Amino acid sequence: MSPLLFVIIILGLYGFLWTLWSFYRWHLLLRTSGLSEIKRLGQARSPHERINGSVVICGGSIAGLLAARVCHDYFEHVLIVEPEGWLITEDGVCRYSWTQQHKRTRVMQYTSLHACQSFLYNGLTKLFSDFEEQCAYSGITVAGANYETSLAGALLKLPLKSLGGLLPKTMFASRSGFKTLLRRLVLGRGRYPRIEQIEGTVTGIVADSEDGSIIRKVLIRLGTSLQVQEIEAKLVVVDCTGISRAGLKWLSQAGYGTTTANTSNSKDGLPLTDLKLSFDQKLHYSSLLFSLTPLVLEKLPIPGGLEGKGAVYTFLEDQMQNGRRFFTISKPDGDRLMMFIGQSGDDVPVYETMSAVRALVQDLVPHKDPIPDWVFETLDILEDFQDQISFAHVRVPRTTYVRYHQAMNLPSNFVALGDSVMTVNPTFAQGCTKVFMGALTLHITLSRLIAPSTVGELQKRLQIPSDFSKQFFKEHFHKTNGFCTPCYGIYINIYDCFVRLDYGIPYTEPIPSENLSSGDLVRWYIRRVQILAIKDEQAARVIWDNSMAYGSKIDSFHPWLVLKILWDAAMRP
Ligand SMILES: Cc1cc2nc3c(=O)[nH]c(=O)nc-3n(C[C@H](O)[C@H](O)[C@H](O)COP(=O)(O)OP(=O)(O)OC[C@H]3O[C@@H](n4cnc5c(N)ncnc54)[C@H](O)[C@@H]3O)c2cc1C
Repeated sequence: MSPLLFVIIILGLYGFLWTLWSFYRWHLLLRTSGLSEIKRLGQARSPHERINGSVVICGGSIAGLLAARVCHDYFEHVLIVEPEGWLITEDGVCRYSWTQQHKRTRVMQYTSLHACQSFLYNGLTKLFSDFEEQCAYSGITVAGANYETSLAGALLKLPLKSLGGLLPKTMFASRSGFKTLLRRLVLGRGRYPRIEQIEGTVTGIVADSEDGSIIRKVLIRLGTSLQVQEIEAKLVVVDCTGISRAGLKWLSQAGYGTTTANTSNSKDGLPLTDLKLSFDQKLHYSSLLFSLTPLVLEKLPIPGGLEGKGAVYTFLEDQMQNGRRFFTISKPDGDRLMMFIGQSGDDVPVYETMSAVRALVQDLVPHKDPIPDWVFETLDILEDFQDQISFAHVRVPRTTYVRYHQAMNLPSNFVALGDSVMTVNPTFAQGCTKVFMGALTLHITLSRLIAPSTVGELQKRLQIPSDFSKQFFKEHFHKTNGFCTPCYGIYINIYDCFVRLDYGIPYTEPIPSENLSSGDLVRWYIRRVQILAIKDEQAARVIWDNSMAYGSKIDSFHPWLVLKILWDAAMRP
């Protein structure tokens, strides 16, 4: 073969692969990313386009509030049922979360580290047109989404060039700051008058006496009393109960999700008892929140100062046998600074004091350059403010996935979103984006009921169809399928991805019937993408896109990037 022909064949092959990759990526972004659909979020329907009747939302945290906001565009009445009564008092919707008197008792991460992906911020600006102003009003910084991402301290390149010189924005809020803002926007300003929240706990559901395929009533224990009341759920019941996953229990008690249930719903699929997959990465979170004065904050030796900054320093250790230790310094809302340590293991220390934090930071193993002096100087200064620390330790619950999209015989008007469907490793800050994807899915599924038509036809269509639940969970699966941060999209779905990454930590307790060795190649490839991203714009862009939930699952397989990674691995093994 002549050299010219050889070159032509190689170029042709590359061009073919590139074209395939580009088309598939375009398809994936359209189908799974939600980027095109968020543009239509938040468009209010005219009264004749609304569905008569109530939607009952069980749980009033992030999933419940986002679901309520979406449903307000479609339903006559939206009822949120939430056990913690103080959330509907002034304190629950206050302007500055750090002035709040109460603490959430049913949400363990209320005072832990919290980070927000840029996609989530983007979606919130569509749901709430004045979102950026409202962040400022609540003292929350909105700035370019730079989390100072590093490979064990070696900063990854910020792909500013390929982003046109401008980083898309995100918000830097504490968990309590974000939640309180969201609650104020949904419940506190009178903008969504059809949303009502009551204090209560949902204890069960009742099927329609004539058509067992529909839930007709929701059982609620009101306030702190033992009295249980039945509430008519004319339309949809949304399970937003987080890790209590109460929906599974209600469905089972009402006889759904089995082959024996007497309903017209499909009996294909998995029974309720087989829906749950879970593994335990044995992750511990220690969060130290300092309440300081502006003067002290100004004096900290942080390069460039804290003005307009959210992430200050991030160190994700590259040593799995140490439990993938993760140290960050960040600036949430208010005159506060957060120090955070995450670590997996069987016997993880609780980092409650500054001396414990210092010992940990000294022990971290950097990729190349040592941890900068200003980090230690900051620790020195903060040592004097030990009494200003509000400390939280959380043993992160097992990573769990309830595969509702494969369930048999679900009631047609039941949906679930947020942590009640899937929890992920919080290290990569995807939890609330995943919740948002659930709310977006609700919007997509509901908007299909209200396609433009004449009013007469519209009234016929504004019924919840018998396959509503199926449609919802199918779409939900697609929307949580491709936005996987830590493996930069390599895996088939987000849950799978976490399984493979967390299996790299020797302490992880795998899914029964699996072992930790699966995914070695994936972990090797991800690490090589990170190493390359320290200096390479394309690799850095893949990481940025996927860290901010803008990417697709094949981004790291761009043919040119694959070649660069293989070359880099050969040159710098
Ligand atoms: C330690 C930790 C750190 C995290 N860090 C991040 C981060 O940095 N970024 C990020 O995006 N995500 C993070 N996450 C994930 C994120 O917090 C969750 O994905 C998110 O809070 C899920 O919201 P949710 O509304 O589904 O559930 P939850 O916030 O758990 O809320 C569930 C609600 O349901 C209510 N409820 C329970 N049972 C009933 C019932 N029977 N009837 C009525 N109501 C009921 C509860 O009172 C509660 O209000 C973190 C998680 C943990 C554990």
